[in-house]
Amino acid sequence: MIACPGGDYCALANARSIPIAQSITERYQDLDDLHDLGPIDLHISGCINSCGHHHSGHIGILGVDKDGKEWYQVSIGGSDGSDLGGPAVAGKVVGPSFAAAEVPDVIEALLETYRELRHSKESFIACAQRVGHDAFRDAANEVRQLTAKPVYAS
Ligand code: SF4
Repeated sequence: MIACPGGDYCALANARSIPIAQSITERYQDLDDLHDLGPIDLHISGCINSCGHHHSGHIGILGVDKDGKEWYQVSIGGSDGSDLGGPAVAGKVVGPSFAAAEVPDVIEALLETYRELRHSKESFIACAQRVGHDAFRDAANEVRQLTAKPVYAS
């Protein structure tokens, strides 16, 4: 995980990064669970200056400001060009931004979707690239509790 200093320490921030990183870390403490999930680049930036390189994360989180409040845009499928993720590419946003309290559930939904859809020993990013965006997008949006679910054209 990479998280920029965000709103706790950076005057340019739209949102805090560190509490989001903490809440995800607290949810994933079990070493066997982490081993099962394998290598995943999760990057968090507190604003579009992108110091946390959210765009190149297999999962990216970007803090945005709406009406003076903190919101978080989540993307999947990014790569920094390393062997694991393949050629560098920006992740694709899964939908409208989420409230801070929703973000850990969104991450869990993405990871559980990976566990359901992966082939043997397939990494998260390889699975996301093979399966495509929609299954992960739908899982992320399904766990919204505080924000409206988007409507997609069929
Ligand atoms: S991404 Fe934005 S909030 Fe984070 S350190 Fe850079 S300028 Fe500050």
